[in-house]
Amino acid sequence: MNSVPDFKPSLPINQLVLNVPRSATLAINETSKQLLLEGEDVVKLGLGQSPFPVPKPMVEALKAYASTKDYMAVQGYLPLREAIAGFISNTEQLDVDASQVLIGPGSKELFFGLQMVLDCDLLLPAPSWVSYQPQANLLGRRTTWLPCSSDENWKLNPATLDTHCQQHNGKPQLLVLNTPNNPSGACYSDSEIQALADVARRHELLVLSDEIYSELHFQGQHVSIARYYPEGTIISNGISKWAGAGGWRLGFFVVPETLRPILEAMIVVASETYTSVSAPVQMAAISAFEDSTDMLDYIHASRQAMRDIGLGFSSQLQAQGVRCVTPQGGFYALGEFESHREALLRHGITDGYQLSRRMLEATGVAALPGSDFGLGQSLTLRFAYVDFDGQSVLQQMLSAGTEKLDLDSSFLRHLFSAPQRIGDWLRSLE
Ligand code: PLP
Repeated sequence: MNSVPDFKPSLPINQLVLNVPRSATLAINETSKQLLLEGEDVVKLGLGQSPFPVPKPMVEALKAYASTKDYMAVQGYLPLREAIAGFISNTEQLDVDASQVLIGPGSKELFFGLQMVLDCDLLLPAPSWVSYQPQANLLGRRTTWLPCSSDENWKLNPATLDTHCQQHNGKPQLLVLNTPNNPSGACYSDSEIQALADVARRHELLVLSDEIYSELHFQGQHVSIARYYPEGTIISNGISKWAGAGGWRLGFFVVPETLRPILEAMIVVASETYTSVSAPVQMAAISAFEDSTDMLDYIHASRQAMRDIGLGFSSQLQAQGVRCVTPQGGFYALGEFESHREALLRHGITDGYQLSRRMLEATGVAALPGSDFGLGQSLTLRFAYVDFDGQSVLQQMLSAGTEKLDLDSSFLRHLFSAPQRIGDWLRSLE
């Protein structure tokens, strides 16, 4: 075999890209994979993926459309956009038209497109999901973090937003609001959303409302800021979380008429980058937004299951001495280890990253450091309580017609071993 000669010039990699570090998430995932390979008993609470299968109507439709081969319209397949417009009109009590919907290969890619077309600063409540800020960094945008407190369930206080906006005299700003929230599991109530909408309107903020966990609000009472600030809000959602289809890569934006130039600019970016989302996936995704019995039962059962598991998991963490705000939706709980700071310090653990590494090595429980979510050096960890057999749990919920999940079931034993392992470890450090 011929050997490849050395490439002599230094590689011209964009400095903006070089400036973005590899996230701690990857390191934790690599370590947990390695431990699994070594036969260790790892509880994987790092990756926030739906534990449930893709709903039957979507799978059947994907099979039926597998031979569809043409490229689709850049903005997205019209019947899918119509179905999404109907879904958002219903759930958010808004009058949305298919022409306002943009389909993309995951909401993450759409968010990158949005940041690319806007020349503005990013405003993020701390904590926020891991990818917003690195995307801003890749594009050379500035990010401002707005501190939130666990005493206020990690939610953005309207006064904090107002004070920041009064002092800001730079570029226009894009606020990202995510409810149900990753990483805290918090959900904004109707009145909280109204108060934030008032501030956003007063300061003419652009708002990206990330609602990717909308149908997993434990009480089914998700509310979008678009209800109260429709003219400045872009809704972001998709099938990755509440329809269990993260790997299908389909997300969407709903852009109000007032912001049409943004939609048009994003279509230009789409047309010169990914062209369109895979045709069979777009066609099959329509059934996710239709009110079929299968789909409604699936959403109801998975929501109830996540509620029972989320409440059980967070209360067991608390019982083991880890402060944890009770989640209200989604897949996540944010644990605070401040009360163990001294003991952890004695063992050389000074931040969330070290905490996650050492906890994984000692207990086999993998979780992500709060620093990945904008919480700096804090001793916080995000737990994605999804390491269980979602197919069996869903089946149990559907066939028993039960409103309450048996948390002692064998399907959940592995997941629920985590709080006890963490508690035992913490006590061993004292
Ligand atoms: N927004 C939040 C808050 C998320 O947690 C995730 C995925 O983890 C995404 C967006 C990305 O979703 P998608 O699969 O649509 O790109």
